[in-house]
Amino acid sequence: MSPRAAVVGGGPAGLMAAEVLATAGVPVTVLEQMRSPGRKLLLAGRGGLNLTHTEPIDAFLDRYGPARPRLAAAIGAFGPDDLRTWAAGLGEPPFVGSSGRVFPAGFRATGLLRAWLRRLDGLGVEIRTNHRWPGWADATTSAADVVVLALGGASWPRSGSDGTWTTVLSLDGIAVVPLRPSNMGVVADWTATFRERFAGVPLKNVVLRHEEASARGDVVVTEHGLEGGPVYALSARLREAIAGDGTATVFLDLQADRHEEQVAGRLARARPTDSAATRLRRSGLPPVAAGLLREATGNRLPTDHLALAQLIKALPIELVATMPIERAISSGGGIDLDEVDDTFMLHRRPGTFVAGEMLDWEAPTGGYLLQATFSTAVAAATGALRWLGRS
Ligand SMILES: Cc1cc2nc3c(=O)[nH]c(=O)nc-3n(C[C@H](O)[C@H](O)[C@H](O)COP(=O)(O)OP(=O)(O)OC[C@H]3O[C@@H](n4cnc5c(N)ncnc54)[C@H](O)[C@@H]3O)c2cc1C
Repeated sequence: MSPRAAVVGGGPAGLMAAEVLATAGVPVTVLEQMRSPGRKLLLAGRGGLNLTHTEPIDAFLDRYGPARPRLAAAIGAFGPDDLRTWAAGLGEPPFVGSSGRVFPAGFRATGLLRAWLRRLDGLGVEIRTNHRWPGWADATTSAADVVVLALGGASWPRSGSDGTWTTVLSLDGIAVVPLRPSNMGVVADWTATFRERFAGVPLKNVVLRHEEASARGDVVVTEHGLEGGPVYALSARLREAIAGDGTATVFLDLQADRHEEQVAGRLARARPTDSAATRLRRSGLPPVAAGLLREATGNRLPTDHLALAQLIKALPIELVATMPIERAISSGGGIDLDEVDDTFMLHRRPGTFVAGEMLDWEAPTGGYLLQATFSTAVAAATGALRWLGRS
């Protein structure tokens, strides 16, 4: 009888593993606890599905920080160009958006997922929805010759990835690094006045700094604090700083395209009768940035141009917490990479492979999350095929 494969989790990692296995002729059953597969993929696509990135591969791999050495081979074998070709094969030829980010033709995930599910159906993949994997006692995984686990992290649990698998695997003696928020917003103690006036307003083209690290882009003021690309880019270090010290101070450059002297020069051009608000407006600061200056200084803005320019270029904001994992874009932590071999097979469970966000790696937004998700899925499924004696 032909060997059977079970894939647990119908997210991008699970579906990609299923595609690789089924393409090689292995009958595959995917177990998914939600009513339909790919719910987080659809959620990710709402603001544009950033599949991968076009930056040079060395810089690309650096985005995975300490996990780089363990992911490099998988991303080398199925990299950004392969992912673009794959998406094109589903009728979604990707385009390169701002700053090298890659999106499917339809921008969102809907068309891509629909075409993908059709392809999987054509390959004979059975997707069993509303099926919660309880652990190793599950009849489908027990009967399978190979298993690929792809249960995701724990962000946006309403999309299905609730992280409850951590208990099952920990009980089995598998080291799991606790799941924690990654690419999450941060919390600042806004006054009610500032929150009510500016929640939802972006600070365009600013630089966010924490110690020696910095990131540029649009930071959005939220009801609770700050969100946006630059915050996500620094999220891992901010999370660790807050966990260690209780708070973290970041510095915002509110006029990133001007030197301090230029900012001071513009402030100096104000008329002596100008109010502080007019002075800030004339210097080119939008109301949200002016509001933040007042908020961060307790409404005690320096009258001296140079001192004010220095604040505009490096406004300290104290962060008191991170947003919870339920509201984060992704999770850090997961199965310790020392628990798997180079094919992502669990040492303690020969024949069981792991893929996607449930492994312990993290990366910023920009397409790096889905790329590693797909690459580890291809690597795990390829390992599973080799385990079955197929190449
Ligand atoms: C708002 C948002 C925007 C994002 N945007 C992007 C982006 O633009 N680009 C990018 O690269 N990444 C983005 N991501 C991250 C990306 O979506 C994830 O990294 C990716 O979905 C991880 O894939 P996965 O298959 O490992 O896990 P998931 O997609 O989480 O899939 C895991 C699946 O396993 C199922 N499951 C869990 N437990 C069980 C169980 N016990 N039994 C059966 N099934 C189970 C879940 O229901 C789920 O369907 C975004 C995420 C969010 C939340």
